[in-house]
Amino acid sequence: MIQKNPLSKLSTGTLRRRRARLARNLPSLETVLQGALVIQRRRCGKPGCRCARGELHGPYVFLTVRRRMGRRLLYIPAALATEVRRRVTLTARIETILAQISAINLELLAREELT
Ligand SMILES: [Zn+2]
Repeated sequence: MIQKNPLSKLSTGTLRRRRARLARNLPSLETVLQGALVIQRRRCGKPGCRCARGELHGPYVFLTVRRRMGRRLLYIPAALATEVRRRVTLTARIETILAQISAINLELLAREELT
């Protein structure tokens, strides 16, 4: 089912004001850190360690980092976890805002009022 774009119901003025507000509220692009946080408990591999009996080490925080081929996990030291988490959250917000601005511009383009 194709849903009609609700932006098409809004006036051009409303769309431009919404676009300006979105752009104004965009977090600083300098915070951008792409990836997702993953929490893991791990086995160290030393024989006789408690982890060999199932008591795993951790939890440790990792950032999934996209590579040309697949992705890898980057270990995040505990002291940096809060800041990394903040940036990952802000990056998701930035990506959402960019998608919303693009959708508005697409609608304005369809009206030939893209300014
Ligand atoms: Zn261990």
